[in-house]
Amino acid sequence: MGTRGNALISLDINALVTLLNKALADEWLAYYQYWMGAKVARGIMREAVVAELDEHAADELRHAQMLTERILQLDGTPLLDPKQWYEMSNCGYDPPTDPSVHKLLEQNIKGEQCAIDVYKSLMDFTKDKDEITYQMALEILTDEIEHEDDLQTVQEDLAKIVR
Ligand code: MG
Ligand code: FE
Ligand code: FE
Repeated sequence: MGTRGNALISLDINALVTLLNKALADEWLAYYQYWMGAKVARGIMREAVVAELDEHAADELRHAQMLTERILQLDGTPLLDPKQWYEMSNCGYDPPTDPSVHKLLEQNIKGEQCAIDVYKSLMDFTKDKDEITYQMALEILTDEIEHEDDLQTVQEDLAKIVR
């Protein structure tokens, strides 16, 4: 990374790169969970749910890009092998084996709540020590909070429908 940029950072860069790689593993798994969920989803309000899942998949992929670019700026090595995703992930992966919209929403809300905790921790780790990563984590956290809210709103709408 650039030497002047590097000099601004006052924390253990290796530890930071590990945290960023763990978040990267989460983002790829979240991306795939949303992407596949959108394909298999069945049930009431399916189109509204699918639109939300597809939108979120695109956001998670963008988060993976942001994390990878920052890891490279820090002279770190981004996870090169998908096998590492399961090993490194904080939030894991819930396969959409039950394609009902209710179950998909429940699984993805759980994932978003985990992601919110991950980026809050990353902000705490970098606060006043690496403003660039802090800013990035805040930007991603803002998206994850929106994701949780979107999904819970759809879930509330679904609950109003008499089944
Ligand atoms: Mg949304
Ligand atoms: Fe994300
Ligand atoms: Fe998200």
